Amino acid sequence: MSAPATAAASTAKFTGIDFSATGKQLGYGHVLHSDNVHDASIIPVPLAMISSGSGPVALIVAGTHGDEYEGQILAHELIRELEPEQLTGTVVVIPAANSPAVRAGTRVSPIDAGNLNRSYPGQASGGPTDQVAALIRDHLLPRADFVIDLHSGGSNSTYLPSTFIYRGPDEPTWQRKLQAVKALGLPYAMVVAPLLEPGSLSSAGDRAGVLTISTELCGAGTVDRHALDTMRRGMPRLLAGLGVLAADRPASGAAPDPHWLELVPESAVTSTVGGLFEPLVDLGQQVRAGQAVARVHFIDELDRPPRTFASRIDGIVAIARRPTLVWPGTHLVHVAPELDIHRT
Ligand SMILES: [Zn+2]
Repeated sequence: MSAPATAAASTAKFTGIDFSATGKQLGYGHVLHSDNVHDASIIPVPLAMISSGSGPVALIVAGTHGDEYEGQILAHELIRELEPEQLTGTVVVIPAANSPAVRAGTRVSPIDAGNLNRSYPGQASGGPTDQVAALIRDHLLPRADFVIDLHSGGSNSTYLPSTFIYRGPDEPTWQRKLQAVKALGLPYAMVVAPLLEPGSLSSAGDRAGVLTISTELCGAGTVDRHALDTMRRGMPRLLAGLGVLAADRPASGAAPDPHWLELVPESAVTSTVGGLFEPLVDLGQQVRAGQAVARVHFIDELDRPPRTFASRIDGIVAIARRPTLVWPGTHLVHVAPELDIHRT
């Protein structure tokens, strides 16, 4: 049996959220789906809107990938702790953007295998993951002055705790991104090519002319408490700098300058064989071009020594794979050259 759909039910996109209202509202976005489990139900995308009624709007997104947890915890904290009277603007928080993936603890949706950060601009009449992208792009991005997209390495990798920004899209926005990176105060900043992933929220934000930054907060499918604490100090400082939060908390102080890195196509050290990955370097370690950074041991060829893989460039080990089992094409580590941000 399926519930009769009314016109209102089929067109409503949100429950519990009135975008013209002030105060703290807790609700959810609608993703419509029908299968053996969901019949003709709504898959809720939890959402909070906290508003003082005027001023800039910050959109904070976590749970784009379901197995990236620091941002999800931070988003829930912001929802609980931020009150309208503290704000000089509006904060919209989505703690579990691809909510089926969050509920399953997986990177992509278990319903349609959709990777939300490859799904923008999305499609309102598409599958569940496309619907989430369309919900954010069509209904939330146009209302936002600033987007922070909270990621971590997920189950398969660990990043240096970083703010992650796409170059561009224009000089004034780029300069504002640099200011936002400094305000957030994470130890590292990783710069990547413009529109690196065309289907990502960062690309959607850049295309929409909305200042958008992202983070990579460690990973390994767990929670790094140091990265989380740094974000707890940095988010109020960032929101205050954007004119959304009335005043910075006195304890947060000024942020130290981050260590600037650039991810380039030569950063990836990629296995050409399957087997057991042995790292030879640590995250944050400086390496030289040609330096061995990993070995892969063969499982069945008993007389064959492991294959050694070297960095192609000088730089800092910025991303490391977590699971030991690898295949041809698996990225083992990424080496990021240091970047003089004042010369870019
Ligand atoms: Zn992610």
